[in-house]
Order: sequence, then C-alpha cells, then structure tokens
Amino acid sequence: MNELGCSLLGSGMEEERWLSMGDYEAAIARWCPGCGDHAVLTAMERLLEAEQLPPERTVFVSGIGCSSRFPHYVKTYGFHGLHGRALPVATGIKVRRPDLHVFVVMGDGDCCSIGAGHWIHTVRYNPDMVAIMLDNGVYGLTKNQTSPTTPKGHRSYTQPRGAYLPGLNPVATTLGVTNASFVAQTGDWLPDHLYETFKAAYHHHGFAFIRVLQRCPMYTDDLFAEAVRDPNRVELLLHPDGIKVPDLEQIYKKHVRHDPSDLANAHRLAQEDGMVRLGLFYRSQSVPVYEDVRTVPLRTAEEKIEILNEELDRYAV
Ligand code: SF4
Repeated sequence: MNELGCSLLGSGMEEERWLSMGDYEAAIARWCPGCGDHAVLTAMERLLEAEQLPPERTVFVSGIGCSSRFPHYVKTYGFHGLHGRALPVATGIKVRRPDLHVFVVMGDGDCCSIGAGHWIHTVRYNPDMVAIMLDNGVYGLTKNQTSPTTPKGHRSYTQPRGAYLPGLNPVATTLGVTNASFVAQTGDWLPDHLYETFKAAYHHHGFAFIRVLQRCPMYTDDLFAEAVRDPNRVELLLHPDGIKVPDLEQIYKKHVRHDPSDLANAHRLAQEDGMVRLGLFYRSQSVPVYEDVRTVPLRTAEEKIEILNEELDRYAV
C-alpha cells in the first residue's frame, strides 16, 4: 500500500487487489448538510470503483468554489487550482501525460464566468477528459452572489432585488462551440442517473461536458425544487445510444426519443422552455481529439536546451 492508500498496480511490488469505494475516499467532505455535492462525490466514487481506476494514474483538477474542494475528498492525485483555471491546467496534464485519467470539477461561477474563455476553447480542443460542472446558480463559497447561471429575478447579496438578466444556458452554449463532442445533463437527486452519466462520459474519447443540476440548500434551495417534486417538469432523453436508467423511466414518464448524434435536435432540446431535460444531448466520436492530432515532436531535455541556445544566440551582440 502506498501513501495514496492504493495497491501499486502494475509496479510488480505488490499484488493487484480490488479497490472498493472506501479506497478512494480521502478527507471527510465539509460541504453543508444536504448539499448536492455529496451525491456527486458518491457517484464518482462508484465510477472509480466500477472502473477500478488506479489512483496513481487518476487526477482530479478543480478551480475555486464549493465544488472545487472535490480533489481533497478523493484519494487520487489532485490539483486545486486558481479560480476559473481548472480546464487549462487539466489540458496541460492530459497533453503531457495522455496515459492519465483526467477529471475536472467546476462550479458555475468558475466555469461560466472567469473561466468562460477556457471553457469555450477546451470544448474546441476536445481533449480526452471528463468535465463536471456543478451548477447551483450562485457563488456559494463566497456566500451568495449572482453567478452567470442565476435565473432572472433570483435574489442574492449582490443583486438583492433579483438578478437583472436571464441566466446563461451552459448546455446550449457548449453545444454551440465548434468541435463539441459530448454534452449531457443530470441532477444530483438522481444517484443512478448521475452514475450512468459519469460512466458514459468516462467511456467517451474526447471532452465530455456534464452539467449537474446541483442543489444548494444554503442559497438556492428553490432552484430545482419543482423538478425534484414534480416529475411532470422533467423530460428524459432516451435512445439506445443514450443514458439508460430503466427504473427512472417509471418515475419520469415524459420521455423524448432523441438520437444523441443529432446536433440540430440537441440544440432545440437545450432551449429554455420550462422543462428540465436530463440525459445525453450530443455525442460525436468523429470530432478531432487535441492530443491525437497535435504533432509537436517530443524532445529530450538536451534537444530542448540546444534549441533554446540557438534561439538565444540570435540575440547575441
Ligand atoms: Fe453546498 Fe451551497 Fe453549502 Fe456550498 S454553500 S457547500 S454549494 S450547500
């Protein structure tokens, strides 16, 4: 057992063993009681166990926010970065170490505000990683400021009369970026749907973007309350190539047959019209993956120094 608490898989130092969910647990999560982040963490630990991901070859990267504490709570490698910068950090890790399993966890403020430029360009680069955006419609860590996804009229400490503008639509935005390859939406109150969505994203080769509708009982308690209480407010996107949770289909009886390869229909379904749609909006395996098409040669340290010295010589006086 190494300091990560994992078996040294493939090292020859210790026999492989089955890793349980508990083997992936690190510090006790310090999110508020009832916070949706707890369910997301549990679903992710289910995935780690089911896929038996070696902790020493798995990385969680985050920015700043409540959800960005995620890397502290999983016993893998982690990088708790700067606000909005999780995606470029994760892309750098993936480009340099394509053998690693890379997961990014961001909040709505982190991804859609200060990190918006990185979000757009990472969708276009399409690196092979899973990005989970926990959308609670507010800046929770800094105690209740309006975020880009806060719905119009929702009161916060920065806009106490209610948000002036309609919230940004993360699913529609991601679908609109050139090279988008996987876009899904799920909710923290649906553990099996969370898990199946994470599983589909993990098995996608490319940038898998998942928006998780995440309840924040501290500041946006009512945001998804109707969808949680009233199954008629929810539509499940169903298709043999989509996300399948048969038990859920008995609870949510509004089904939309949607082929996830149909981008035009995905755009239509992503529009705000009062319904909450859960499932796989879009998936394409024909979109180029950045680390597959990048042709920069890998150089030795000596070669890099030689190139650097040649460049510096050009400025010699
Ligand atoms: Fe969760 Fe909201 Fe508490 Fe943050 S403030 S930990 S999002 S419930």
